[in-house]
Amino acid sequence: MGPPLELIRERTRGTSWEGRLWLVGGAVRDRLLGRPEPKDLDLVLEGSALVFAQWCRETGLSEIDPVTYPRFGTAMVRVAGSTVELVTARKESYRPDSRKPDVRPATLSDDALRRDFTVNALYENVHTGELRDPLERGWEDLRNLVLRTPLDPAETFREDPLRMLRAVRFRWQLGMNPAEGLYEAIRAARERLGIVSRERIRDELVRMLGLAEADRCLQDLLDLGLLGLFAPELAAMAGVAQGHQHHLDVWSHTLLALRSLGPGDPACSLAVLLHDVGKPATRTEEPDGRIRFLGHERVGAEIAERWLRDMRFPGALIAEVSALVRGHMRVLDPERLGDAALRRLLRDFGGSLDRLLRVAEADASAHRPGTPHPDFGALRRRLEELGRITPAQKLRSPLSGEQIMALTGWPEGPMVGRAKSWLLERVLEGALPPDDERLAREALLEALRRGDLP
Ligand code: ATP
Ligand code: MG
Repeated sequence: MGPPLELIRERTRGTSWEGRLWLVGGAVRDRLLGRPEPKDLDLVLEGSALVFAQWCRETGLSEIDPVTYPRFGTAMVRVAGSTVELVTARKESYRPDSRKPDVRPATLSDDALRRDFTVNALYENVHTGELRDPLERGWEDLRNLVLRTPLDPAETFREDPLRMLRAVRFRWQLGMNPAEGLYEAIRAARERLGIVSRERIRDELVRMLGLAEADRCLQDLLDLGLLGLFAPELAAMAGVAQGHQHHLDVWSHTLLALRSLGPGDPACSLAVLLHDVGKPATRTEEPDGRIRFLGHERVGAEIAERWLRDMRFPGALIAEVSALVRGHMRVLDPERLGDAALRRLLRDFGGSLDRLLRVAEADASAHRPGTPHPDFGALRRRLEELGRITPAQKLRSPLSGEQIMALTGWPEGPMVGRAKSWLLERVLEGALPPDDERLAREALLEALRRGDLP
């Protein structure tokens, strides 16, 4: 057991809290499964979570002022760098029009009934190590890897429809089998996902994308009719047939690319998930039967941006992911990229360039078997080499607007901007070294003499 739990155990020993703290959820479940234990802890208290949270603060056990939700009887503290959620053992009832429960004190059995799955309702006493299975199903279901709700699934999902997404995640994260009737209940209740906030759905989706089985999760979300409720743009990729180098429809190609990418980088995962989202809207079939998706990367970037904003992703992530979608075609044919194209990539992507290559690599690896795989290793080396000679921040006009005005005697105006762009282009092409003002002046004057400037 990790240091946060040890610390809590030590500090509460001999106090009135001893014996009244129960570990629940992932920490208990994952250890019994022999999986790596989660960093964050969930504790159920026989007693007020709010009072305990305050006690944690006063004794210095918590590193932060507790975040408390008096109406729910829950609180959050931080111990030894880990988040610890505290819950008052409680009984809840839901009003049909809301997810917000009314809470009053109760027992571990009541607490178990309001959890999402039986395997998440196993309790371990922090001090005695006693294991409790109030539902008398949790143990058995964990041994048999059966994912089952404590109540009739229709009721569990009605109370908090986010649990439908959690069912899909736990199924694949833990390699479990849905209990009989579980998936049917999701199909029947799916429309209720509409009452769940975008933020909660987003967080579950990000957790799914963090799994090696993200593709399986997404396929389930599509099959269950859940995906279309919060991401119709993604669901629209299913069944869109493609030509030549593709053996799969746009959706299955995307999932294969996601699998090949692997988890661990949310920006990359989202970019791969969205890289072809513009294809359904841009698909055309030529008279000779050729299927094309002209401009799908540009249209896709716009769709991606809108959807990510709708899901309340942070602005910086939205900007990066939509840039990756827009740029994903630029590196698919590395042999045809000259140095100027590579410098443009360095300028446009900077620190995000490695992600662009990973996205393109995942995309290429999901093409029809036998399609020649672009040499991304060679491309990486060339980019590194070029980037060493000319760091991205030096890829700019060697002369400032003022310097150009002083040189030419022009007043402020569009001509100055055009001259700057022209100089930048020369740098990108490698015709001018970066930062060399003298050569830049000569080149600009020469171009003006010859009338080369647009
Ligand atoms: P992991 O951290 O690996 O995702 P976990 O089971 O710890 O798994 P958390 O989201 O951390 O999942 O939640 C902790 C516990 O709280 C769960 O095990 C479950 O008992 C309960 N829980 C969380 N969210 C819900 C919910 N929406 N409905 C009912 N119970 C929930
Ligand atoms: Mg957890």
